[in-house]
Amino acid sequence: MTITSPVLNQGQQLIFSRNNILRAFPDFDDTGFAGVHLHDNQVIITRNEGTTQSYPIDPIITAFKEFTARTPDFFSCLGPNYRGPSIWRNNCYVLFKGWAYQSQGSNKTPEAIMQKRWADKFSMLDLEDKVTAALNQFNLGYLVSPDGKYVGRQELKMADDDSPDELPTPEPYCSCGSFQQQTRLIDQIREIIPNYEPTCKHISWFKRYRELLSKRSNLIQSCRGHVASKVTAWNYIPPANGNDGKFQVIWTKDGEMATLDRWRHYKPGENYTQHDVWTLFDAMLDNGFVPFPLTALPHISHAFK
Ligand SMILES: [Zn+2]
Repeated sequence: MTITSPVLNQGQQLIFSRNNILRAFPDFDDTGFAGVHLHDNQVIITRNEGTTQSYPIDPIITAFKEFTARTPDFFSCLGPNYRGPSIWRNNCYVLFKGWAYQSQGSNKTPEAIMQKRWADKFSMLDLEDKVTAALNQFNLGYLVSPDGKYVGRQELKMADDDSPDELPTPEPYCSCGSFQQQTRLIDQIREIIPNYEPTCKHISWFKRYRELLSKRSNLIQSCRGHVASKVTAWNYIPPANGNDGKFQVIWTKDGEMATLDRWRHYKPGENYTQHDVWTLFDAMLDNGFVPFPLTALPHISHAFK
């Protein structure tokens, strides 16, 4: 199929945005940018002085897909006290924005304080609209269903009386702006990318987090008496002065209750940041070490002081 479009519709604008062109072609210069259209599977950029430049669409489509489904760092979707997603109902979860870890002291921002207040209250709200309204009002996070919401049998019967037993495949869902925009523009997006399914960084984060938890619990299950002797404890200091955060790890082979003299620093010379965390967790688990947040082990809370 050859794609030609003199004026970009909203779906095309989303895919062939300046940022996605830049992601695919880092030397793309967006100064004097006057317009963009599609011709013969090329993105044609018109500049103020009348010159044009063309780029093949495929790398830009790839950039759009990769960026939309990127996995943000470990701390970017955790609530207060390293709280992960919490189940609401109907196979949906409340996923917090990582307000408490954005910078040092940000655990005292109004948003982070509001998250603490709200953390256990969502289960009292019975309607999805009420949950998303509360999340949006205080900018706390999102309602997300990575495997799709359950569709009630009763609801289905009313929709289609002839096939009450055929359940449709649940589709992933997120209340964030990116996911909602893709859902709204799905027909236009599919003209460019057939079979495209909306996704977002929250769904990617959720899946990565779930993978980590399941790997961790499998490892504990495989330990003798389900008690791990090889363990790590990690500590995180959020960013300050525009620098990255600091992620520190200690380890022992004497179990998480070992006294501090039995623990060793993991590569003390390395400056690990929030961007290394997924990889470090994987490395720990692959080597048979069960990670614990330092905050869960008060007897060694002074380890990094
Ligand atoms: Zn989302």
